[in-house]
Amino acid sequence: MQRRNFIKGAGVALAAGALAACTDKECPPVTTEQATGAAPTPKAKPVEWKMVTTWPKDFPGLGVAANNLAALIGEMSGGRIKIKVFGAGELVPAFEVFDAVSRGTAQIGHGTAYYWKGKSEAAQFFSTVPFGLTAQEMTSWLLYGGGLELWRELYARFGLVPMLAGNTGVQMGGWFNKEINSVEDLQGLKMRIPGLGGEVLRRAGGTPVNLPGGELFTALQSGAIDATEYVGPYNDLAFGLYKAAKYYYYPGFHEPGSVLEAMINQEALEALPADLQAIVLNACKVVNQELLAEYTARNPAALETLINEHGVELRVYPDDVLHKLRTLSQEVVAELAEKDEFSRRVYDSYSQFYQSVRKWTDISESIYLKARERG
Ligand code: CA
Repeated sequence: MQRRNFIKGAGVALAAGALAACTDKECPPVTTEQATGAAPTPKAKPVEWKMVTTWPKDFPGLGVAANNLAALIGEMSGGRIKIKVFGAGELVPAFEVFDAVSRGTAQIGHGTAYYWKGKSEAAQFFSTVPFGLTAQEMTSWLLYGGGLELWRELYARFGLVPMLAGNTGVQMGGWFNKEINSVEDLQGLKMRIPGLGGEVLRRAGGTPVNLPGGELFTALQSGAIDATEYVGPYNDLAFGLYKAAKYYYYPGFHEPGSVLEAMINQEALEALPADLQAIVLNACKVVNQELLAEYTARNPAALETLINEHGVELRVYPDDVLHKLRTLSQEVVAELAEKDEFSRRVYDSYSQFYQSVRKWTDISESIYLKARERG
């Protein structure tokens, strides 16, 4: 200890001596090392991670959020973690992201939990529930209502650590080539609609199809599907869905605030020092908020473009259609709770939070928005 202090002191003396011997103009810059007397530390090799995603590479909103997450972790860690991002199909196909991160082919993935219902039905609660929590309420359930603890418990079975890393807000209902004037118009409809919303459509007489985003346009244009939902105007415009369908319905009853997730290989995360673990997990939360802000800011202009430049016909689902879909949604979600013991626990936590928060939302956001619209 004493020896180190002596060397440190000598370093400062040397630096001070060098400064005294020169005039202002000639003085060489003083390095941090000279100024503090600290010994130079060899620069550690950065941790290199791969990120696989369920989105097309660089796709507006979703794909860019994955890029932003990787960049933010790099920046916050001062370059100690470097993450290379792979779009859907580049390293693994979209729907193999979960398994790829679970087995360590990649250390981190970006997607959304309802894609993994084949692993556990309960996973769907961590994306979105038809007629369920909004983006704001969902973030609150996850962070303050016990949701994230349950999500972590589920993903731990697969050697993964989940974290919320993006939210779309209320999505659009979807793209149709015919008007939906009654529940009968949903009969026989082959529609891309993932998650619990797909099961609701099935009970309304339709046929749900699950396809990754990158395949939607071709499927709709070729007639392989009759209708599709995706996200909202900003994303749907970028995919050119207006070229394949005329009617654009709202609201997205099936996805009122879909959470995007980061899933991190648990071993890879735990191999990091505590500060880097905190950086990875908290960068996800920053991206969660930023993506919601981006969608909220960009959707209005994209919707204008769809209507004014591309002649899209905007339609709201009729009340009786929404009523029927709501009744079916309640059935589907209640049955989900019966699938297994863990699904029951998640359902109970979600339902309790929903019943409590809706009372507050009713007298805060809800009544305020109605009052604002009345002018
Ligand atoms: Ca969607």
